[in-house]
Amino acid sequence: MAKTMKGVVLPGNSTVEFRDYEIPTPGHGEVLLKMKSSTICGSDIRAIYHEHLGKGPEGYQGVISGHEPSGQIVECGPGLRRFKKGDRVIVYHISGCGVCNDCRRGYMISCTSEKFRRAYGWQRDGGMAEYMLAEEKDLVALPDSLSYTDGAQIACGFGTVYEGLEKVGISGNDRVLVTGLGPVGLATLMLAKAMGASYLIGIDGVPERRELALKLGLADAVLDAGPDNAAQVKKLTDGAGCERTIDCSANDKARLTCIQAARKWGKICFIGEGGTAAFQPSPDIIHDQKTIYGSWVTSIWKMEELVERIVRWGIHPEDLVTHRFPLAEADKAFALMAGGRCGKVAIAFDEELSK
Ligand SMILES: [Zn+2]
Ligand SMILES: [Zn+2]
Repeated sequence: MAKTMKGVVLPGNSTVEFRDYEIPTPGHGEVLLKMKSSTICGSDIRAIYHEHLGKGPEGYQGVISGHEPSGQIVECGPGLRRFKKGDRVIVYHISGCGVCNDCRRGYMISCTSEKFRRAYGWQRDGGMAEYMLAEEKDLVALPDSLSYTDGAQIACGFGTVYEGLEKVGISGNDRVLVTGLGPVGLATLMLAKAMGASYLIGIDGVPERRELALKLGLADAVLDAGPDNAAQVKKLTDGAGCERTIDCSANDKARLTCIQAARKWGKICFIGEGGTAAFQPSPDIIHDQKTIYGSWVTSIWKMEELVERIVRWGIHPEDLVTHRFPLAEADKAFALMAGGRCGKVAIAFDEELSK
């Protein structure tokens, strides 16, 4: 095996830098992964690629980027309890302290230990390299029927969406509105449909995204983003509105649409990060008995549960990936993703690249 590898660092000026690294050796409780697929997240673009915006959990510390990693274990450190060489895995993208209350709930995303909470691709090396070091406790098994790119999609985006959908509960009783049809919005449509939603509406201002939602068969109707969206949604739902609405756009107008287009007694979930929201509590939520939820990433047990259900539902998160690039073309991959006229973009390796 080679001794060094290339890794991608994001300097924060809308460029990509390739640096040489020694291939790490796994210590106690750690594994070395041969990377197979590493997808680019909206948060990589928002908080790292253009500008290093984040603080705390979103503070990027100049490490190898990529927090949506999936790969195969090629080397094991001592003391492993479950996983072994050759296993295909997804990495839950935050390594927590393991002993705070949030970690004990499986939500390492909100681990409260400043010293030990380190997210892959933010505070510790992530998946935009040939190899990656991970802790065994952060691994989720990837079944043979799912591809590594399916796995990379689950590591962040699909896990995050599933958590939000589980919070509001989705069944065949529900018509679902999704605002923002980037990768997270498309994932929301895909999972809501698999969970039984009986009618799905998507809203986005970018025509390519609306077309993709229709082409993939994920939405029954799509609307261009605009001031009449709430009325248009009501028209499509017999005047009632949607039982469940999910904002994946972080746009304040779209958030208001989600609130106003939700049916009486409906549930609204905010997944998209950043921005602001403005609404009138009495007419918009109180008098219509509506509830707004916020949802941030997911727990590792729920991610494991999601993997099991995705297999049972027979869906493939990788269907949302419209472009695959080799690591050496990471600059093109990030530029494309930043432009927004695409679905999900993956840095792919080996068998995942030739698909
Ligand atoms: Zn992400
Ligand atoms: Zn913790």
